[in-house]
This record gives sequence, C-alpha cells and structure tokens, in this order.
Amino acid sequence: MTGRGGAIDLFTARFGGEPDIVIRAPGRVNLIGEHTDYNDGFVLPMAIEQATWVALRPRDDRIVRLTSEGHGDVSFSLDDLVRGTDGWAEYIKGIAWAMGSAQLHGWEGAFTSDIPIGAGLSSSAALEIAGALAFTSVSGQAWDPTASALMAQRAENEWVGVSCGIMDQLIIATAEADNAMLIDCRTLGLTPAPLPGDVAIVILDTGTRRELVDSEYDDRRRACERAAEAAGVPALRDLSIDDIAGLARATDEIALRRARHVISENERTIDAASALEIGDVRHFGELMNDSHKSLRDDFEVSSDALDLMVDIATDLEGCLGARMTGAGFGGCAVALVRDSAAAQFVEEITRRYSTASNNDPHVYVTRAAAGAHARQIGDRTT
Ligand code: ADP
Ligand code: MG
Repeated sequence: MTGRGGAIDLFTARFGGEPDIVIRAPGRVNLIGEHTDYNDGFVLPMAIEQATWVALRPRDDRIVRLTSEGHGDVSFSLDDLVRGTDGWAEYIKGIAWAMGSAQLHGWEGAFTSDIPIGAGLSSSAALEIAGALAFTSVSGQAWDPTASALMAQRAENEWVGVSCGIMDQLIIATAEADNAMLIDCRTLGLTPAPLPGDVAIVILDTGTRRELVDSEYDDRRRACERAAEAAGVPALRDLSIDDIAGLARATDEIALRRARHVISENERTIDAASALEIGDVRHFGELMNDSHKSLRDDFEVSSDALDLMVDIATDLEGCLGARMTGAGFGGCAVALVRDSAAAQFVEEITRRYSTASNNDPHVYVTRAAAGAHARQIGDRTT
C-alpha cells in the first residue's frame, strides 16, 4: 500500500504506536531543458503525483531506525556515521552527513513509494529530500528548500557516489502544485510557470534502460566544455544562436553540434516557460518536438525505443508535443496531451508501442504536484 495511509500503517506494524509526522516527497519529470544543467543553463521540470511517503516519530537518542516497503529494514547511529554498502540506507546516512550529523536527532520511520525505481523519475532524490525533511523536522530546524536540495545533491554526489546536477533535488524541494518550474542552473533562480488544467502530462517509459551512459555522458560534457572554451566563455549558457556561425570557425564539428543543441535548448526552455505564462500549450508542444529532434540529431542521446515512442505519441489525437526526457539512451519520454484525449492516448500508445517493439511500456498520466512537505499528526506534545 502506498500514500499517506500506507506509510502510517507500515509504521504502526513495524514500530508500534503512532507516528508524529508524515512527509511526502514527489518524483519529478523534466518537460524541457535537457543536458543544459551542466552548461549553467535552464531546465523546466515539474513534480509529479507519484511520491515517496515517510511516517515517523522522533527518538530520544541518536539512533535512526528505518523500514521501507519492499526494501527491508536499516538502522544506524548518528554518532558513528560510516559510509558502507547498506543499499538505500546510504542515501539517508549521506543526508545526515551533508546536514552535519552533530546537530541532528534520531528517529524511526516507515517509507512507502509509488515512484518506479530506476525509471528516471528520481526516486533517489525523493528519498533524499524525504530524509532531509525528516531530520529537519525531528531536530527542530527551519526548512530551507534550496539549501536542503544542495545538501541532498552533495549526499548523492559525495556519499552515494553518483554524479548528478541540482535539478532533481531542487524541483522536489520547491515545486508548486499546477506549475512547472523554470530553474536557472547558474543562479538557482526559480520561476514557477503555470500548467493549464486542460492538459495532462503523460510519462512514457519505453521499458528500456540506458547503457554506456557514463562514458557517453562524460563525452558530451567534454564536447560542451571544448565548445565553450573555443568561444572564450565560462559555459555554453553565455552564448546565443547568433554566436553559432562564429563558433563553427573556432571548434570541431562534433563540439559544434553538441553546442548547437545546448544553445538552442536554452532558448527553447525560456521560450517554453513564456508560452506557459500566456497559456499557449500549442507552442509549448512544438518546442518539445523541436527539443527531441535536437537531442536526437545534434546531441545524439536518443535511442530507437525513445524515437519510436515519440513518433507514435506525436501521431496520436490530442498530443501537443513529445520528447525524450532525462539523460537519454533509454528510459522515459514525456508527452503533453489534451485532457479530453488522455484516456484514448494511453490506450493507443500502449497498444502501438507494444506491437512495434519487443519492450513493455509503462504509461503514467500525471499532473504538476506540490513539492515536499511535512505534516504533524494530532497534538502529541511531550
Ligand atoms: P531513479 O531514477 O529512480 O532515481 P536511482 O538508481 O538513482 O534511480 O535510485 C534508485 C535507488 O534509490 C534504489 O536502488 C534505492 O537504493 C533507492 N530508493 C529509491 N526509493 C526508495 C524507497 N522508497 N525505499 C528505499 N530505497 C529507495
Ligand atoms: Mg536517481
């Protein structure tokens, strides 16, 4: 069982009694702005309805005891925080380390989640932000979403050892319901962009997982750095479409194409946020389609499965636009679909994609949800 009730029931079954606090931390999907984050650029993600929940109770000591549905039990002491191979516990230990464990109190907590693991919807960042909010709540600290997102990113980078940008943690911590969020990855400036009520966001998991992604990712980063260096700017963020002709004379053909994606994607992302501001979902959809082509042809991070999914989606009634989302080479695409056509869209795309490929698709219709929050249960003052 998932959701608030599921976490409370699991807490009672595992620890006895009732929890004091329930926390919800959503997953996320990026609508546009791909491979722009490490170029100091712009991204436009939103939090989704699928979320990780934790029901918890503070402890008087410095022990953290946790259970997570389907992932087993873990426990550790804040006085003896060592990096280990405890699987999912490392995400919570990493958070405690990044927050400064000397300031923190112990707690016991039960996690449930309906964010699929490893699908690119950021179950890991949801877990980290849920953990950060739990430590903040039991330790009597004030919740600072941006500061917590930076600590969660540090936990994932330095404790868990996975390199990631700031987008996932930041959107999960700061999202507003019914809005996507334009994030300036250089300044961490946040601008909400409203999503109209008559469109649905449909996440299209191709059922394929990325391979060779680390080496390909490093290769793309290096090409972007090469192009920025050739142009004499700190990052590709500092260039505009007008600079591309000059760049063509200064760098190699591969770096030029990678740069053309990043530069045009930054412009599309800002344009997309403006389109939402005036409710122009049609233009937003066109920008998503252009983003996919640029990722496919110039950045070369799409895959046959992603191209197939996007081609089917854009061919269907009520689809305003679709693109791959996330690092690429597999995983999910995302489509913007008229609400009235969403049910038919889901049925059709599942059927057509299953027939045309050997993979099992998973399709999720979702809306822009609020960011992470904690709620006290009842009035248990001690
Ligand atoms: P994703 O794309 O979903 O973020 P990752 O590989 O980055 O995929 O993170 C998945 C890992 O995060 C899991 O293997 C597990 O260790 C941890 N994780 C995520 N959600 C939970 C949860 N609800 N309970 C326990 N561990 C979780
Ligand atoms: Mg992750």
